Amino acid sequence: MPEFDLVIIGGGSGGYACALRSAQLGKSVVLIEAEKVGGTCLHKGCIPTKALLHAAEIADGAREGARFGVKSTFDGIDMAGVNSYKDGVVSRLHKGLQGLVKSRAITYVEGHGKLISKNTVEVNGTSYTGANIVLATGSYAKTLPGLEIDGKQVITSDHGTKMDYVPKSVIVLGGGVIGCEFASVWKSFGAEVTIIEGLPHLIALEDESSSKQLERAFRKRGINFELGVFFKSLSKNADGVTVTLEDGKVFSAEILMVSVGRGPVSADLGYEAAGVAMDRGYVLVDEKCRTNVPGIWAVGDLIPTLQLAHVGFAEGMLVAEEIAGLNPRPINYDGIPRVTYSDPEVASVGLTTAEAKKRGFDVVELSYDLAGNGKAQILNTAGSIKLIAEKDGPILGIHMVGARVGELLAEAGLIFNWEARAIDVAPLIHAHPTLSEAMGEAHMALAGKPLHAHG
Ligand SMILES: Cc1cc2nc3c(=O)[nH]c(=O)nc-3n(C[C@H](O)[C@H](O)[C@H](O)COP(=O)(O)OP(=O)(O)OC[C@H]3O[C@@H](n4cnc5c(N)ncnc54)[C@H](O)[C@@H]3O)c2cc1C
Repeated sequence: MPEFDLVIIGGGSGGYACALRSAQLGKSVVLIEAEKVGGTCLHKGCIPTKALLHAAEIADGAREGARFGVKSTFDGIDMAGVNSYKDGVVSRLHKGLQGLVKSRAITYVEGHGKLISKNTVEVNGTSYTGANIVLATGSYAKTLPGLEIDGKQVITSDHGTKMDYVPKSVIVLGGGVIGCEFASVWKSFGAEVTIIEGLPHLIALEDESSSKQLERAFRKRGINFELGVFFKSLSKNADGVTVTLEDGKVFSAEILMVSVGRGPVSADLGYEAAGVAMDRGYVLVDEKCRTNVPGIWAVGDLIPTLQLAHVGFAEGMLVAEEIAGLNPRPINYDGIPRVTYSDPEVASVGLTTAEAKKRGFDVVELSYDLAGNGKAQILNTAGSIKLIAEKDGPILGIHMVGARVGELLAEAGLIFNWEARAIDVAPLIHAHPTLSEAMGEAHMALAGKPLHAHG
């Protein structure tokens, strides 16, 4: 008889969500974590980076006070102060999470787990058997062949969240979400920033219109970028780093941050030996996060779905509920909200125009410029809300750019996931003056009755 209903390897967003929900459903759970419960998101991902971005926003506010008639000056960044604020946020959330795990009577084991059979995990010489094993070992920051991370001049986001100084200049290799967020922080902190991106656009997974608006905004902020060109080589000396690109251009800076994506943590953990099907290190699962081995499940960044904390939470809870016999609905990955928390923010849910067309939809589009929105004028932000809909049908995608648009995703998510049409949303009344009015206005315009828009 297995000792536990579930043995979970990895206490990040996916693993701990699965543990909490399973315990809530009356299951006996052991949660094995090599470092700190909360994983990447809490300790070196979402939370620290968003604290840095908030400090960056305050820095810009101090710089731009005069624009609003407020006498203020930007005297510089005190990284010790920034880190103390950031670490305070992380530490409070960590304590809260530890308390939550304890209160649900989850057996928490600190150590490095390894799958030694289809139903057994070994940690520090002790074996734990489970009727179900959940693999939730997450991901790590990748680099390129020949590009060695030294943690000082050549760093990843792991080091970027723990810097005790503001570099004078940074090259960010990779213009995805993480690269753009760090570029935004460092520019606000006073560094010279250059992003190198091999694809034709920054945040290339977003709708092209959002990428272009972010590029325009970054250019205006003085963030440099090179698009559609690949890294060739790196040299270092005491003063800094020099990067040569395949087109022959050369860039120098104090440090290089490598943000070329994250790979699954799955090597030497006994997954293959147990017969778990994998592809390039990712564990393969079906729509209920079941691997090909009965009783073994996998969630979070370890599987080839969107690498986001809330995706990990959703997958962890899905597995818990499936094991408990609740037969939950599979996740609709199109309906996952996505945010890049740079200045300006980029937020989206649903399909891009390119994807909607690829899937054969007869697409109609509407772009509502935030210039017509009172709150956007008050905040002095530019941007837009773009709607993509099926002709005479539901909204297929919502794509937003501008300050604080991430907060509008709650409503955008409901609209997309409830398959609302523009005429269903148009009569909903939004408070004035809020950014959310722009959501209402966009749907009113698409429904043929624009108020504060030409048309
Ligand atoms: C800089 C950065 C910013 C991010 N910002 C956001 C954001 O704003 N919003 C968002 O939604 N997502 C964000 N993410 C992504 C988010 O952090 C991940 O999607 C999420 O953490 C994935 O959760 P996970 O449980 O799959 O893996 P992880 O959080 O990586 O957790 C895996 C855990 O497993 C442990 N582990 C690994 N191997 C073993 C082993 N053998 N035994 C025991 N324990 C083990 C690790 O120590 C780790 O704690 C960001 C990521 C980064 C790097």
